Amino acid sequence: MDPQSIKRRGVMLVLSSPSGTGKSTISRNLLAGNRNLELSVSVTTRARRGSEIDGTHYHFVTEREFNRLRDDDALLEWAEVHGNYYGTPREAVDQAMGEGRDVLFDIDYQGGQQLMEKARFDVVSVFLLPPSMEELQSRLVRRAEDAQEVIQKRLNNAIEEIPHWKEYDYVVINDDLDRAFSEVQSILTAERLRRERSPGLFDYEQFLLGRNES
Ligand code: ADP
Ligand code: 5GP
Repeated sequence: MDPQSIKRRGVMLVLSSPSGTGKSTISRNLLAGNRNLELSVSVTTRARRGSEIDGTHYHFVTEREFNRLRDDDALLEWAEVHGNYYGTPREAVDQAMGEGRDVLFDIDYQGGQQLMEKARFDVVSVFLLPPSMEELQSRLVRRAEDAQEVIQKRLNNAIEEIPHWKEYDYVVINDDLDRAFSEVQSILTAERLRRERSPGLFDYEQFLLGRNES
């Protein structure tokens, strides 16, 4: 029996942080290094940034389309963040989880709360904190994707968002990117190995002890 084929249930890895902390950067690195991990691509009513691709970073929708998805119960969670609506399409998550793949959610604390209520067993949540408010501001400015008033709004919202670290399973401070990334990677690696996520270990035990034919 191939150890890689042991039946397992995927991890729902929720990554939240104030805007500009480095969530997208760490998500990108995780996705590049973990073949079994896929990003939950959210729907949003926010305007597309120059560097973003529709369908890859987000599904960009009108408010009317968003309301329809929400009313059809097609969203696993949704929230208003920085004056725009964001939501997680249910179908892609159900499919990935059903196939034993891990799913990464780059969502805010309101979405994190909803997923933790709905799927506590599957969710592993990580809150990223910046090293200082000055560094958070300079990362938002350096990213150069948002207008000055948008940056100001995101900094003001950070003050509301930061206290929610207490609701998360893990907290990682993103001062040095390499270290923060490897800490998040370690969390994912360890959580994947939790006994409860591998129902196939019962069959594997039978195989090891020569009690069946697989
Ligand atoms: P978020 O997704 O949380 O809004 P991003 O991943 O877009 O944040 O990061 C914001 C900016 O900060 C980007 O320009 C990114 O390259 C930079 N950045 C991310 N992590 C670090 C770090 N540890 N040190 C310095 N700059 C960082
Ligand atoms: P941004 O506009 O910078 O891409 O994202 C703004 C905030 O919205 C971030 O905190 C991001 O994690 C959050 N976000 C993105 N997609 C979703 C989603 O589907 N649901 C929720 N609740 N938040 C989201």
